Amino acid sequence: AGAPDVDVFERYESHVRSYCRKFPAVFVRAKGARLYAEDGRVFTDFFCGAGSLNYGHNPDPIKARITDYLASDGMMHGLDMYTAAKRSFLEALTEHILRPRGLDYTVQFSGPTGADAVEAALKLARKATGRRGVFAFGGGYHGMTRGSLAVTGNGRARRAGGVHGQDEVTFIPYEDGPQGPFDSIALIERLLADSSSGVEAPAAVIVEPLQMEGGVYPASADWLRRLRAVTERHGILLICDEIQSGCGRTGTFFAFEESGIVPDMVTVSKSISGYGLPLALTLFRPGLDVWEPGEHTGTFRGNQLAFVAATAAAELWSDPEFVERLPVPARSLTALGTELTAAEPEITVRGRGMVLGIDLGRAGGGMRAEEVQRYAFEHGLIVELSGRDDEVIKILPPLTVTPEELDHGIGVLRAALLGR
Ligand code: PMP
Repeated sequence: AGAPDVDVFERYESHVRSYCRKFPAVFVRAKGARLYAEDGRVFTDFFCGAGSLNYGHNPDPIKARITDYLASDGMMHGLDMYTAAKRSFLEALTEHILRPRGLDYTVQFSGPTGADAVEAALKLARKATGRRGVFAFGGGYHGMTRGSLAVTGNGRARRAGGVHGQDEVTFIPYEDGPQGPFDSIALIERLLADSSSGVEAPAAVIVEPLQMEGGVYPASADWLRRLRAVTERHGILLICDEIQSGCGRTGTFFAFEESGIVPDMVTVSKSISGYGLPLALTLFRPGLDVWEPGEHTGTFRGNQLAFVAATAAAELWSDPEFVERLPVPARSLTALGTELTAAEPEITVRGRGMVLGIDLGRAGGGMRAEEVQRYAFEHGLIVELSGRDDEVIKILPPLTVTPEELDHGIGVLRAALLGR
């Protein structure tokens, strides 16, 4: 098979797109959790487009709907027109996802990327409250546009983007996650109670119920309820960014569900289309619809083919066969985590449902996460890193992973981390 030919990327694509270098293969085809390279190599995908492929690559029930739609010359672009594909999606979202969870949201189509769903949420929160400030958490990731970057808890990225200290954002430290030694909610209470702090009640608090890029830190139900309580007391809108933690990743459709809280706004993207097609939504309480037409628009909001796919994906949430199987592969991930921490005291693991963060620590003494990633690739497994210093291996198999795919991936990780 020989070395992969990545010359074209080397010559023409900006080196910023590092995945071409990290995963040197030319991928041509994908099905389920399997990726097929031009040179014949086969890989198991535990990266899944950073949570964009929760139903796997080219899932059959969704594919059939897309191919039918294309074959019937379905409307492909309508720029805000009322289409049957949009209507079906809105109905499916309500019937299969929102209503069964007791949620009632209005939808703002934004996008096509998740960052724009965050932009919409921040703009709307500011307009609805008439306030300027936003509280965000250290380590949080919300996107790379200037507004979403300004609330992203990574000082290096904010400085590189020229938004450091912009947009009246206050970062709440989040050392070692929400249940870490530092009580971030107590700090919010103090800042708002103490008039000498100079910090006024913000328009919104934005939070990932399970911080993903930051290193896989799930917020407990109790922590989320405390956050909801303090935001309610001060009339602050609570925005849950479910772009990566949502669409079933944690075992429930939204990661916040378990806590019983109702956020004022929810940003959703990545796996919402179920097929890797771009779609991003900002959900908000109906009373918050304070926009005039044209106050948040964009040519490629609400892709029609993505609506068709997203309708089929939403229907899966009423399919008992799909829903009842969700905990099965998740148990294998938990078992892997237990085995790793029992065998290697310097490893800690975090996660919920179908996400596992394997934290190798920042001390740098032992094996580095990057080496594990390289070893995994050489043995046919794709994994991504997260955390401040890329010290956490982030394991994101598709929710629909087969036992064989799962065994392969877990076997490679076990060999890399435990030598067995
Ligand atoms: N929020 C979260 C939680 C994310 O994980 C991401 C993407 N990694 C974004 C926002 C931004 O989405 P996009 O890359 O589609 O703009």
